[in-house]
Amino acid sequence: MDAITLETSVSQLPYVGPIYAKKLERLGVLTINDLFYHLPFRYDNFTLMSSIQQLQVGETVSIIGLVESIKNIYTKNGKRLTEAKISDDTDSISIIWFNQPYLTRVIQSGLKYIFSGKVDWFGRKKSLISPQYELWEKGEHLHTGRLVPIYPETAGITSKWLRNRIGFLLKSYLNLMEDLLPAEIIKEYQFEGVREALSEIHFPRSLETAEKARERLAFEELFYLQLTSAFRKKTWQEETVGHIFKISQYKEKIVNFMNNLPFVLTNSQKRAVSEILGDLAYKYPMNRLLEGDVASGKTVVATIGMYLSFLNGFQSALMAPTEILAEQHYQTVSSLLTPLGVKVKLLTSSIKKDQKLITNNQKPDILIGTHSLLHENSEFKNLGLVVIDEQQRFGVEQRETLQKKGINPHLLTMTATPIPRTIALTLYGELDLSILDEMPQGRQKIKTWVVPEEKREDSYRWLEKNLKQAFIICPLIEDSETLQTVKAATSEYVKIKQIFNKYQVALLHGRLKSEEKKNILKDFREGKIAILVATPVVEVGIDIPNANIMVIEAADRFGLSQLHQLRGRVGRNNQEAYCFLFSQSNLPQTILRLKSLETHYSGPELAEIDLKLRGPGEITGTRQHGVLTLKAARFTDYDLLEKARLNAQKLLAKDDLIKYPKLKEVLKKRLPSITITN
Ligand code: ADP
Ligand code: MG
Repeated sequence: MDAITLETSVSQLPYVGPIYAKKLERLGVLTINDLFYHLPFRYDNFTLMSSIQQLQVGETVSIIGLVESIKNIYTKNGKRLTEAKISDDTDSISIIWFNQPYLTRVIQSGLKYIFSGKVDWFGRKKSLISPQYELWEKGEHLHTGRLVPIYPETAGITSKWLRNRIGFLLKSYLNLMEDLLPAEIIKEYQFEGVREALSEIHFPRSLETAEKARERLAFEELFYLQLTSAFRKKTWQEETVGHIFKISQYKEKIVNFMNNLPFVLTNSQKRAVSEILGDLAYKYPMNRLLEGDVASGKTVVATIGMYLSFLNGFQSALMAPTEILAEQHYQTVSSLLTPLGVKVKLLTSSIKKDQKLITNNQKPDILIGTHSLLHENSEFKNLGLVVIDEQQRFGVEQRETLQKKGINPHLLTMTATPIPRTIALTLYGELDLSILDEMPQGRQKIKTWVVPEEKREDSYRWLEKNLKQAFIICPLIEDSETLQTVKAATSEYVKIKQIFNKYQVALLHGRLKSEEKKNILKDFREGKIAILVATPVVEVGIDIPNANIMVIEAADRFGLSQLHQLRGRVGRNNQEAYCFLFSQSNLPQTILRLKSLETHYSGPELAEIDLKLRGPGEITGTRQHGVLTLKAARFTDYDLLEKARLNAQKLLAKDDLIKYPKLKEVLKKRLPSITITN
């Protein structure tokens, strides 16, 4: 057999072999290195040692005892139990396991074992219930009498099995692990070596040392991620020439434009504008994410960029996720820019080909549309700037397709999904980030209530009294507009029509023809419809100034950020606005989570709360990025991320990679398509 290295397949390890290797693959564990980095997500605390005499009901403890006897018993109602009698110098006790009859063959009477578990009543006797067990020996135990690691498991792979295999690895092959982090960094943050960190995180001496080890490994993980994206960005900047937009000679025009807006830009809008204009005037293509709550005013920021593009003689394209949004953008952008001589054109799949041809002799300066832009060629000319709204709805390839319609055009993506900063920086490390963290002046806080089911009737009466226009959002059934979603929406619509029979009620869902959708929204915007029953996936950033009430059914099925986005559709017109949340679940933690919306009004804050309560997977927009699973790091490791980012940038800025051949190897592995020279 070849010598074992970190890259050796786990199937080469004793007690693993091809069958277990196959199962481990499901956990993402292929090599010995992977197994070293299969980290516990929590520990059972079995550190409290007790004599049998002192056992207290309710305690989780470890005892060392001699097995006097062990046997299987069958209860009257057909359950299979295994009972062992254990004694030490102080007393004896019985231990009970359920449904594990094979234990009588594994645990031998006459030998000393260590048992860890919970003391509870069994009938009238104090017992240890379903404890972990391990033959008692001097020295380290893996499963009992200590902090015991619990791992991500899969069918046929238990934490116990993993502890044995990883315990063996740590004993036999830890010397394969080498420190790759630069020595200065290790010294600066007083990190322990990688070997010590790995032993500690798997089999810690205390929770404190476990956390210290986790931080050490998390830093390293984040550092590589940051180094990779910083390097990718640097390469891109060095190799790609963008369209350099001139600014100084157009400054007056831009300033005039901003001064003539019907409102004053917020400070964060101004900051975003100057960041974007700065990028546009630079020699490599912009790659920036503009993040801001619903109604924080992203469109106008993007419009200023597109105006500069026009002034420089370049075309811009704005891609929106739905036709209705594209149309809304078209209205906004053309009302702002047409008076200035900019030719704006809307292109959606429902606009017929022949209609397109009529105006085809002159190419538009700004092209607005849905994904249909991707299939369009004849309208493009001299594309200098691409803007993509609600970027999480578009995949990387779609973005690239659009970018390829020009030669390295600048790229601005926009999202209302408040991705917490850590996630944004971890996932999109190579993007520059502009955040609109302040709402335009005079916006009302939308009064929000989580309404218990018994108050539903009351709330409807209240709603009727205060109604200008309302949205009623149906339960989220699936992520797309399936027939089932439509059915649920339709029955909600029928119900609402009966309750509010004096009002005009309409139904909007994604399966409607786009002509129908457009008409319904037009009627709603013009006030001909009072209540719009809609599915949740319909039309993200829609702008209905007079809508003042938002009702969300089955709110528990949504993330807080999504709910926040939905509620952001009301209260646009400096008027009092209200949001009612109904929940299908009455679990206290669910209600508590929803109640955060009663007291928090900032998207990023709510995203952080969701991140803590539900983890990153639940945050919209990041689920698709499941490719990136963090091992040691967490999205809540703000400080570590900042440190990692800083150090990665520092190292690249100094062009120092040559001094760290091992780091260079890491990068080479992560960026196979890029030549790493220095
Ligand atoms: P979003 O960030 O959700 O895309 P929009 O760009 O659609 O938000 O803007 C929402 C509304 O706020 C629009 O009607 C827009 O005209 C208005 N708006 C934008 N900026 C300001 C501002 N600084 N002050 C007042 N209203 C503004
Ligand atoms: Mg928008």
